[in-house]
Amino acid sequence: MLIFNFTQYGINDLKRIYKKAITENIKLYGPCKNFKKLLVEVKYSYGEGTSGRNVRGTAWITIRIPRSKPNKKHIVIIFDHELMHVRGYRHEDETLKKCLTFEQIKWIHNYKLRKRIGRPPGQKHKTKRKTKK
Ligand SMILES: [Zn+2]
Repeated sequence: MLIFNFTQYGINDLKRIYKKAITENIKLYGPCKNFKKLLVEVKYSYGEGTSGRNVRGTAWITIRIPRSKPNKKHIVIIFDHELMHVRGYRHEDETLKKCLTFEQIKWIHNYKLRKRIGRPPGQKHKTKRKTKK
């Protein structure tokens, strides 16, 4: 899985949540070839909600989360819905109509979603250089 993170939320926190959600989805529905080449784009939503997008059958998912106080449960439920599209399911399919219950995503309580602390303004990012000896 590759994550393109356009938010201030930590990429490692996001990765842990999505990886766990994938593991749980596989437990329920079996392995999926497309999951190996998953591209997850994380952006801010325009309002306070969380939303997702996937072109059915492709491995590219876009998730939009609010700038402040994102609901982790919603993030998991929506991501799982998109995973089902990656598997090829349509909204008309019975399998996609039933979304995850809160009971099935209790694990999320043990997962953090923290904002990165930005560098102070004006401070440049330092890149490491190899020094010859
Ligand atoms: Zn959908």
